Amino acid sequence: MKKIAVIPGDGIGTEVIREALKVIEATQAKNPMDIDLVEMDYGAEKYLKTKITMPEEQYDDFKKNFSAILMGAFGDPRVPGNEHAKDILLGTRFKLDLYVNFRPVKLLDERFCPLKNKTPKDVNFTVFRENTEGVYVGVGGIFKKNTPDEIAIQEEINTRKGVERIIRYAFEFTQKNNLKKIAMADKSNAMQYGHNLWYRCFFEVAKEYPNIQSKHFYIDAMAMMMIREPESFEVIVTNNLFGDIITDIGAQLQGGMGLAASGNINPDGVSMFEPVHGSAPDIAGKNLANPMAAILTAEMMLRHLGFTINADMIDRAARIAIQKNKLTKELGGNLGTKECGDFICEVIRNGN
Ligand code: ATP
Repeated sequence: MKKIAVIPGDGIGTEVIREALKVIEATQAKNPMDIDLVEMDYGAEKYLKTKITMPEEQYDDFKKNFSAILMGAFGDPRVPGNEHAKDILLGTRFKLDLYVNFRPVKLLDERFCPLKNKTPKDVNFTVFRENTEGVYVGVGGIFKKNTPDEIAIQEEINTRKGVERIIRYAFEFTQKNNLKKIAMADKSNAMQYGHNLWYRCFFEVAKEYPNIQSKHFYIDAMAMMMIREPESFEVIVTNNLFGDIITDIGAQLQGGMGLAASGNINPDGVSMFEPVHGSAPDIAGKNLANPMAAILTAEMMLRHLGFTINADMIDRAARIAIQKNKLTKELGGNLGTKECGDFICEVIRNGN
Protein backbone atom coordinates (compact mmCIF):
# COMPACT_ATOMS: atom_id res chain seq x y z
CA MET A 1 0.00 0.00 0.00
CA LYS A 2 1.37 3.43 -0.97
CA LYS A 3 0.22 6.31 1.18
CA ILE A 4 -0.03 9.68 -0.57
CA ALA A 5 -0.48 12.95 1.33
CA VAL A 6 -2.64 15.46 -0.54
CA ILE A 7 -2.24 19.11 0.45
CA PRO A 8 -4.35 21.38 -1.81
CA GLY A 9 -3.18 24.58 -0.03
CA ASP A 10 -4.53 27.99 -1.04
CA GLY A 11 -6.30 29.79 -3.88
CA ILE A 12 -6.53 27.84 -7.10
CA GLY A 13 -4.49 25.06 -5.43
CA THR A 14 -7.71 23.70 -3.92
CA GLU A 15 -9.56 23.90 -7.25
CA VAL A 16 -6.92 22.20 -9.39
CA ILE A 17 -6.10 19.47 -6.86
CA ARG A 18 -9.80 18.60 -6.66
CA GLU A 19 -9.69 17.89 -10.41
CA ALA A 20 -6.41 15.96 -10.16
CA LEU A 21 -7.95 13.72 -7.48
CA LYS A 22 -11.03 13.13 -9.64
CA VAL A 23 -8.76 12.07 -12.48
CA ILE A 24 -6.72 9.72 -10.26
CA GLU A 25 -10.00 8.15 -9.09
CA ALA A 26 -11.21 7.76 -12.68
CA THR A 27 -8.08 5.74 -13.50
CA GLN A 28 -8.60 3.70 -10.31
CA ALA A 29 -11.94 2.51 -11.64
CA LYS A 30 -10.20 1.13 -14.74
CA ASN A 31 -7.06 -0.18 -13.06
CA PRO A 32 -7.14 -0.19 -9.23
CA MET A 33 -3.96 0.94 -7.50
CA ASP A 34 -3.02 0.02 -3.96
CA ILE A 35 -2.92 3.61 -2.71
CA ASP A 36 -4.33 5.58 0.18
CA LEU A 37 -4.90 9.31 -0.44
CA VAL A 38 -4.77 11.28 2.83
CA GLU A 39 -5.95 14.91 2.61
CA MET A 40 -4.28 17.52 4.86
CA ASP A 41 -5.38 21.10 5.45
CA TYR A 42 -2.06 22.97 5.72
CA GLY A 43 -2.26 26.43 4.15
CA ALA A 44 -3.28 30.03 4.82
CA GLU A 45 -6.59 29.23 6.50
CA LYS A 46 -4.96 26.96 9.08
CA TYR A 47 -2.06 29.38 9.53
CA LEU A 48 -4.38 32.33 10.20
CA LYS A 49 -6.39 30.35 12.75
CA THR A 50 -3.59 28.50 14.55
CA LYS A 51 -0.21 29.99 13.44
CA ILE A 52 0.73 26.47 12.35
CA THR A 53 2.47 26.22 8.98
CA MET A 54 3.68 22.62 9.00
CA PRO A 55 4.60 21.06 12.34
CA GLU A 56 7.96 19.38 12.79
CA GLU A 57 6.35 16.00 13.54
CA GLN A 58 4.55 16.12 10.20
CA TYR A 59 7.89 15.83 8.41
CA ASP A 60 8.71 12.72 10.48
CA ASP A 61 5.29 11.30 9.62
CA PHE A 62 5.99 11.89 5.89
CA LYS A 63 9.37 10.17 6.17
CA LYS A 64 8.04 7.17 8.09
CA ASN A 65 4.63 6.58 6.58
CA PHE A 66 4.27 8.16 3.14
CA SER A 67 5.45 7.37 -0.39
CA ALA A 68 4.58 10.74 -1.96
CA ILE A 69 3.04 14.15 -1.36
CA LEU A 70 0.78 15.92 -3.87
CA MET A 71 0.63 19.67 -3.27
CA GLY A 72 -1.48 22.43 -4.86
CA ALA A 73 -0.23 25.95 -4.27
CA PHE A 74 0.38 28.28 -1.33
CA GLY A 75 -0.13 32.03 -1.12
CA ASP A 76 -2.98 34.17 0.17
CA PRO A 77 -3.50 37.95 0.20
CA ARG A 78 -4.53 37.71 3.88
CA VAL A 79 -0.95 36.67 4.72
CA PRO A 80 0.95 39.68 3.35
CA GLY A 81 4.49 38.21 3.37
CA ASN A 82 3.20 34.72 2.56
CA GLU A 83 5.46 33.43 5.32
CA HIS A 84 3.36 30.27 5.62
CA ALA A 85 3.98 29.46 1.94
CA LYS A 86 7.72 29.91 2.29
CA ASP A 87 7.79 27.80 5.42
CA ILE A 88 5.76 24.96 3.92
CA LEU A 89 7.44 24.83 0.51
CA LEU A 90 11.05 25.47 1.50
CA GLY A 91 10.55 23.46 4.71
CA THR A 92 9.39 20.44 2.71
CA ARG A 93 12.23 20.74 0.21
CA PHE A 94 14.95 21.11 2.85
CA LYS A 95 13.65 18.86 5.62
CA LEU A 96 12.81 15.96 3.31
CA ASP A 97 16.04 16.60 1.37
CA LEU A 98 14.19 16.78 -1.95
CA TYR A 99 17.34 17.61 -3.83
CA VAL A 100 16.08 16.93 -7.35
CA ASN A 101 13.69 19.41 -8.89
CA PHE A 102 12.41 17.58 -11.95
CA ARG A 103 10.79 19.75 -14.62
CA PRO A 104 9.91 18.24 -17.98
CA VAL A 105 9.44 20.81 -20.73
CA LYS A 106 7.25 19.12 -23.27
CA LEU A 107 5.24 20.95 -25.90
CA LEU A 108 2.01 19.01 -26.37
CA ASP A 109 0.68 21.04 -29.29
CA GLU A 110 2.33 23.45 -31.71
CA ARG A 111 -0.30 26.10 -31.13
CA PHE A 112 0.82 26.63 -27.51
CA CYS A 113 4.43 27.53 -28.36
CA PRO A 114 5.25 31.25 -28.50
CA LEU A 115 8.13 30.56 -30.92
CA LYS A 116 7.33 30.38 -34.60
CA ASN A 117 7.74 27.10 -36.49
CA LYS A 118 8.54 25.05 -33.39
CA THR A 119 6.70 21.75 -33.00
CA PRO A 120 6.41 19.16 -30.18
CA LYS A 121 9.47 17.49 -31.73
CA ASP A 122 11.51 20.66 -31.08
CA VAL A 123 10.45 21.40 -27.51
CA ASN A 124 11.00 18.24 -25.53
CA PHE A 125 13.63 18.31 -22.82
CA THR A 126 13.97 17.88 -19.06
CA VAL A 127 15.48 20.31 -16.58
CA PHE A 128 17.03 19.13 -13.31
CA ARG A 129 17.33 22.00 -10.87
CA GLU A 130 19.34 21.61 -7.67
CA ASN A 131 16.74 22.10 -4.95
CA THR A 132 18.43 22.33 -1.55
CA GLU A 133 21.42 24.69 -1.83
CA GLY A 134 22.50 27.80 -3.72
CA VAL A 135 21.12 31.17 -2.70
CA TYR A 136 18.00 29.60 -1.20
CA VAL A 137 19.69 28.57 2.05
CA GLY A 138 19.16 32.07 3.46
CA VAL A 139 22.72 32.67 4.63
CA GLY A 140 23.66 36.34 4.85
CA GLY A 141 22.68 39.52 6.55
CA ILE A 142 22.05 43.22 6.38
CA PHE A 143 24.25 45.73 8.18
CA LYS A 144 23.32 49.40 8.76
CA LYS A 145 19.85 48.83 7.34
CA ASN A 146 18.07 51.81 5.80
CA THR A 147 21.12 54.04 6.00
CA PRO A 148 23.25 55.28 3.09
CA ASP A 149 25.98 52.88 4.31
CA GLU A 150 23.76 49.80 4.16
CA ILE A 151 25.48 46.53 3.28
CA ALA A 152 23.57 43.42 2.18
CA ILE A 153 25.31 40.07 1.89
CA GLN A 154 23.60 37.01 0.43
CA GLU A 155 25.73 33.89 0.27
CA GLU A 156 25.42 31.11 -2.25
CA ILE A 157 26.20 27.67 -0.86
CA ASN A 158 27.55 24.96 -3.16
CA THR A 159 28.78 21.73 -1.60
CA ARG A 160 30.63 18.92 -3.36
CA LYS A 161 27.98 16.47 -2.13
CA GLY A 162 25.06 18.67 -3.22
CA VAL A 163 26.46 19.50 -6.65
CA GLU A 164 27.61 15.98 -7.41
CA ARG A 165 24.38 14.24 -6.47
CA ILE A 166 22.14 16.35 -8.74
CA ILE A 167 24.61 16.09 -11.63
CA ARG A 168 24.81 12.33 -11.17
CA TYR A 169 21.01 12.05 -11.02
CA ALA A 170 20.74 13.94 -14.34
CA PHE A 171 23.31 11.66 -15.99
CA GLU A 172 21.52 8.56 -14.70
CA PHE A 173 18.20 9.87 -16.07
CA THR A 174 19.84 10.56 -19.45
CA GLN A 175 21.25 7.05 -19.60
CA LYS A 176 18.10 5.28 -18.38
CA ASN A 177 15.98 7.07 -20.96
CA ASN A 178 18.40 6.31 -23.81
CA LEU A 179 19.06 10.00 -24.38
CA LYS A 180 22.32 11.21 -25.84
CA LYS A 181 22.90 14.76 -24.64
CA ILE A 182 23.23 16.60 -21.36
CA ALA A 183 23.93 20.30 -20.85
CA MET A 184 25.05 22.01 -17.63
CA ALA A 185 24.71 25.74 -17.07
CA ASP A 186 26.69 27.84 -14.59
CA LYS A 187 28.35 31.24 -14.50
CA SER A 188 31.85 29.99 -13.76
CA ASN A 189 33.45 32.85 -15.71
CA ALA A 190 32.17 35.34 -13.13
CA MET A 191 31.63 33.13 -10.08
CA GLN A 192 35.00 31.49 -10.05
CA TYR A 193 34.67 29.51 -6.81
CA GLY A 194 31.17 28.12 -6.41
CA HIS A 195 30.52 27.65 -10.08
CA ASN A 196 34.00 26.34 -10.72
CA LEU A 197 32.94 23.49 -8.43
CA TRP A 198 29.96 22.85 -10.73
CA TYR A 199 32.20 22.96 -13.80
CA ARG A 200 34.75 20.49 -12.41
CA CYS A 201 32.13 18.19 -10.95
CA PHE A 202 30.18 18.03 -14.21
CA PHE A 203 33.15 16.92 -16.29
CA GLU A 204 34.38 14.51 -13.60
CA VAL A 205 31.00 12.74 -13.52
CA ALA A 206 30.77 12.94 -17.34
CA LYS A 207 33.85 10.68 -17.61
CA GLU A 208 31.72 7.85 -16.17
CA TYR A 209 29.22 8.25 -19.02
CA PRO A 210 31.33 8.21 -22.20
CA ASN A 211 28.33 7.59 -24.45
CA ILE A 212 26.58 10.78 -23.37
CA GLN A 213 27.55 14.04 -25.06
CA SER A 214 28.24 16.52 -22.22
CA LYS A 215 28.19 20.22 -22.93
CA HIS A 216 28.87 23.19 -20.72
CA PHE A 217 27.07 26.54 -21.13
CA TYR A 218 27.28 29.84 -19.33
CA ILE A 219 23.73 30.50 -18.16
CA ASP A 220 23.26 33.57 -20.37
CA ALA A 221 24.19 31.56 -23.47
CA MET A 222 21.85 28.77 -22.42
CA ALA A 223 18.92 31.19 -21.98
CA MET A 224 19.56 32.42 -25.52
CA MET A 225 19.79 28.91 -26.96
CA MET A 226 16.58 27.79 -25.24
CA ILE A 227 14.75 30.36 -27.35
CA ARG A 228 16.80 30.07 -30.54
CA GLU A 229 17.23 26.30 -30.70
CA PRO A 230 15.20 24.48 -28.03
CA GLU A 231 15.61 21.32 -30.12
CA SER A 232 19.31 21.22 -29.21
CA PHE A 233 18.50 20.22 -25.61
CA GLU A 234 17.59 16.82 -24.17
CA VAL A 235 18.59 17.13 -20.51
CA ILE A 236 19.70 20.24 -18.61
CA VAL A 237 21.17 20.33 -15.11
CA THR A 238 21.80 23.53 -13.20
CA ASN A 239 21.80 25.20 -9.79
CA ASN A 240 18.84 26.36 -7.73
CA LEU A 241 18.62 30.00 -8.86
CA PHE A 242 19.36 29.47 -12.56
CA GLY A 243 16.99 26.51 -12.53
CA ASP A 244 14.24 28.70 -11.15
CA ILE A 245 14.69 31.15 -14.01
CA ILE A 246 15.14 28.78 -16.94
CA THR A 247 12.24 26.54 -15.91
CA ASP A 248 9.98 29.59 -16.24
CA ILE A 249 11.35 30.03 -19.78
CA GLY A 250 10.66 26.33 -20.26
CA ALA A 251 7.09 26.66 -18.96
CA GLN A 252 6.42 29.38 -21.53
CA LEU A 253 7.91 27.27 -24.35
CA GLN A 254 5.43 24.51 -23.54
CA GLY A 255 2.39 26.77 -23.32
CA GLY A 256 2.48 28.54 -19.97
CA MET A 257 1.91 27.90 -16.30
CA GLY A 258 -1.35 26.06 -16.88
CA LEU A 259 0.53 23.08 -18.35
CA ALA A 260 3.74 22.89 -16.30
CA ALA A 261 4.22 20.02 -13.83
CA SER A 262 7.07 19.42 -11.42
CA GLY A 263 8.51 16.85 -9.05
CA ASN A 264 10.69 17.45 -5.99
CA ILE A 265 12.44 14.17 -5.55
CA ASN A 266 14.44 12.41 -2.90
CA PRO A 267 15.52 9.25 -4.70
CA ASP A 268 15.84 7.40 -1.38
CA GLY A 269 12.75 8.71 0.36
CA VAL A 270 9.40 10.42 0.05
CA SER A 271 9.00 12.83 -2.89
CA MET A 272 6.70 15.80 -3.43
CA PHE A 273 4.86 16.75 -6.62
CA GLU A 274 3.31 20.14 -7.43
CA PRO A 275 2.15 22.17 -10.41
CA VAL A 276 4.61 24.95 -11.23
CA HIS A 277 2.03 27.72 -10.94
CA GLY A 278 1.18 29.55 -7.72
CA SER A 279 -2.11 30.14 -5.94
CA ALA A 280 -3.16 32.87 -8.43
CA PRO A 281 -5.40 34.90 -6.08
CA ASP A 282 -6.63 36.97 -9.04
CA ILE A 283 -8.57 34.03 -10.49
CA ALA A 284 -9.17 31.95 -7.35
CA GLY A 285 -12.71 30.74 -6.65
CA LYS A 286 -13.95 31.59 -10.15
CA ASN A 287 -13.68 28.19 -11.86
CA LEU A 288 -11.15 29.76 -14.26
CA ALA A 289 -7.93 27.97 -13.29
CA ASN A 290 -6.48 25.47 -15.70
CA PRO A 291 -6.34 22.11 -13.86
CA MET A 292 -4.09 20.54 -16.52
CA ALA A 293 -0.79 21.29 -14.73
CA ALA A 294 -2.11 19.63 -11.56
CA ILE A 295 -3.47 16.69 -13.56
CA LEU A 296 -0.12 16.25 -15.36
CA THR A 297 1.58 16.53 -11.95
CA ALA A 298 -0.61 13.68 -10.67
CA GLU A 299 0.46 11.70 -13.74
CA MET A 300 4.12 12.38 -12.95
CA MET A 301 3.59 11.24 -9.36
CA LEU A 302 1.87 7.99 -10.39
CA ARG A 303 4.68 7.27 -12.88
CA HIS A 304 7.26 7.91 -10.16
CA LEU A 305 5.44 5.47 -7.87
CA GLY A 306 5.44 2.81 -10.59
CA PHE A 307 1.77 3.05 -11.62
CA THR A 308 2.62 3.30 -15.31
CA ILE A 309 -0.73 2.08 -16.69
CA ASN A 310 -2.69 4.74 -14.77
CA ALA A 311 -0.14 7.43 -15.67
CA ASP A 312 -0.44 6.49 -19.36
CA MET A 313 -4.25 6.81 -19.14
CA ILE A 314 -3.88 10.38 -17.90
CA ASP A 315 -1.30 11.23 -20.55
CA ARG A 316 -3.57 9.95 -23.32
CA ALA A 317 -6.65 11.75 -21.98
CA ALA A 318 -4.76 15.04 -21.61
CA ARG A 319 -3.56 14.82 -25.21
CA ILE A 320 -7.11 14.18 -26.40
CA ALA A 321 -8.41 17.17 -24.41
CA ILE A 322 -5.76 19.33 -26.06
CA GLN A 323 -6.48 17.97 -29.55
CA LYS A 324 -10.22 18.60 -29.12
CA ASN A 325 -9.63 22.00 -27.50
CA LYS A 326 -11.46 20.90 -24.34
CA LEU A 327 -9.47 23.46 -22.40
CA THR A 328 -9.78 26.45 -20.12
CA LYS A 329 -10.01 29.99 -21.47
CA GLU A 330 -6.36 31.05 -21.16
CA LEU A 331 -5.43 28.25 -23.58
CA GLY A 332 -8.15 29.15 -26.05
CA GLY A 333 -10.89 26.78 -24.87
CA ASN A 334 -14.19 27.62 -23.23
CA LEU A 335 -14.31 25.21 -20.28
CA GLY A 336 -14.15 25.97 -16.59
CA THR A 337 -11.78 24.22 -14.17
CA LYS A 338 -14.37 21.62 -13.22
CA GLU A 339 -15.56 20.97 -16.77
CA CYS A 340 -11.99 20.48 -17.99
CA GLY A 341 -11.43 17.87 -15.24
CA ASP A 342 -14.79 16.26 -16.08
CA PHE A 343 -13.80 15.89 -19.73
CA ILE A 344 -10.51 14.16 -18.86
CA CYS A 345 -12.36 11.78 -16.51
CA GLU A 346 -14.88 11.01 -19.22
CA VAL A 347 -12.15 10.15 -21.72
CA ILE A 348 -10.53 7.87 -19.14
CA ARG A 349 -13.86 6.17 -18.41
CA ASN A 350 -15.01 5.78 -22.00
CA GLY A 351 -11.65 5.57 -23.71
CA ASN A 352 -12.54 7.93 -26.57
P1 ATP B 1 3.39 32.98 -6.84
O1 ATP B 1 4.16 32.52 -8.04
O2 ATP B 1 4.14 33.98 -6.02
O3 ATP B 1 2.86 31.84 -6.02
P2 ATP B 1 0.98 33.67 -8.35
O4 ATP B 1 0.10 32.56 -7.99
O5 ATP B 1 0.33 34.99 -8.54
O6 ATP B 1 2.12 33.84 -7.28
P3 ATP B 1 1.84 32.44 -10.85
O7 ATP B 1 1.49 31.08 -10.56
O8 ATP B 1 3.16 32.71 -11.47
O9 ATP B 1 1.84 33.41 -9.61
O10 ATP B 1 0.69 33.01 -11.77
C1 ATP B 1 0.72 34.24 -12.40
C2 ATP B 1 -0.61 34.46 -13.07
O11 ATP B 1 -0.81 33.49 -14.11
C3 ATP B 1 -1.78 34.24 -12.12
O12 ATP B 1 -2.05 35.39 -11.38
C4 ATP B 1 -2.89 33.83 -13.06
O13 ATP B 1 -3.53 34.93 -13.62
C5 ATP B 1 -2.15 33.04 -14.13
N1 ATP B 1 -2.17 31.59 -13.83
C6 ATP B 1 -1.34 30.88 -13.05
N2 ATP B 1 -1.69 29.60 -12.97
C7 ATP B 1 -2.79 29.46 -13.72
C8 ATP B 1 -3.65 28.35 -14.05
N3 ATP B 1 -3.46 27.12 -13.56
N4 ATP B 1 -4.70 28.58 -14.85
C9 ATP B 1 -4.93 29.81 -15.35
N5 ATP B 1 -4.17 30.89 -15.09
C10 ATP B 1 -3.11 30.72 -14.28
